[in-house]
Amino acid sequence: MIYLDNAATTPVRREVLAAAWPFLTGEFGNPSSHHTVGEAALRAVDEARGQVAAFFGCRASEVTFTSGGTEAINLAIKGIALGQPRGRHLVSTPIEHEATLESLDFLRRVHGFEVTLVPVDAAGRVDLAALAAAIREDTTLVTVMAANNEVGTVQDCASIGALSKAHRVPFHVDAVQAAGWRSVTAADLGADAVSISGHKLGALKGSGALFARGRLMLEPLLHGGGQERGRRSGTENVAAAVGLGVAATLAAAERDEAAARVSLLRDELIAGVLAAVPSAVLTGDAVNRLPSIASFLFPGTSGESVLLGLEERGVVASSGSACAAGSDEPSHVLVALGVSPTLAQTAVRFSLTQTTTAAEFAEAVAATRRAVEAAQQLGRRN
Ligand code: PLP
Repeated sequence: MIYLDNAATTPVRREVLAAAWPFLTGEFGNPSSHHTVGEAALRAVDEARGQVAAFFGCRASEVTFTSGGTEAINLAIKGIALGQPRGRHLVSTPIEHEATLESLDFLRRVHGFEVTLVPVDAAGRVDLAALAAAIREDTTLVTVMAANNEVGTVQDCASIGALSKAHRVPFHVDAVQAAGWRSVTAADLGADAVSISGHKLGALKGSGALFARGRLMLEPLLHGGGQERGRRSGTENVAAAVGLGVAATLAAAERDEAAARVSLLRDELIAGVLAAVPSAVLTGDAVNRLPSIASFLFPGTSGESVLLGLEERGVVASSGSACAAGSDEPSHVLVALGVSPTLAQTAVRFSLTQTTTAAEFAEAVAATRRAVEAAQQLGRRN
């Protein structure tokens, strides 16, 4: 099987498993317990916090471990909106992950916030002039993803951060897909808060972290024993935190080499697919895109039938977001890029990881040509 759905999730790295294993077995202490068993667990969480802080380029006290990207994003958005009493206006984009869009919608429905979604261009880049115009006196938060999970477009976070800073508005970045491929430090992103997810980095599912500047008042989502400096109560998932610390350290060390190598493979895949299927359309920004994502429209097919055809030929890909998979709704991302709802239904995303090989690509391209031809024939018959 050729697995090209790494934007949905990645396999757990051996190093992560080896580091996490003791905390699922012999070293099972609760970090809040005041005895040697608990203290060993606390030391492990502290070490992991230091590793994740190095990944974010922040202080250890500014890292909150969460159950994943979704929770980190919820904590950032709801936590800042409800904790910082500046106003009731939020700025974001229409191509964010559901974790962001649904958090914003919750604040609108339940707490009376107004939400401005700044348009993106056909490549998925945020219109910076429109973003600047959208920020108001009562804006409490700007939240934008570093890179899109469906089309791979990378945003100019440094500029968005500078605009937010000029207006003294906190800026949160969903760096779930960008982490491992690009720097996600607070300084490089110009961010006051950054969310990451472990399972996109070879760490365990159910692990993630939020960087949030120490001075930000965050209203917690979870109330209880006051763990994580009161930002996230609940006994820490020690094994998950330890695994995330290791995965973040490895990702930072390997990033530049991996990004350069996988970008070349991605470009080969794009060229291969466009040559094999002349009617295919690449989606997202041709230049500002993640090394890991190549996404296409295959006019005259349905994306789902192409995916089935690919799977029959041993290639696993996706129609875009794992959350939207299986739903009949066209992708909100592609629609925001100006793709018609009908054409959006023909989307297929290939997403790579460090271990993807050129040989796998050759097979994937051949399988794509055959799967698209079969799906086009099916489309013509129907
Ligand atoms: N943000 C983006 C851009 C994503 O791609 C995802 C997951 O696909 C998430 C957030 C949610 O992360 P998690 O699966 O860890 O909850």
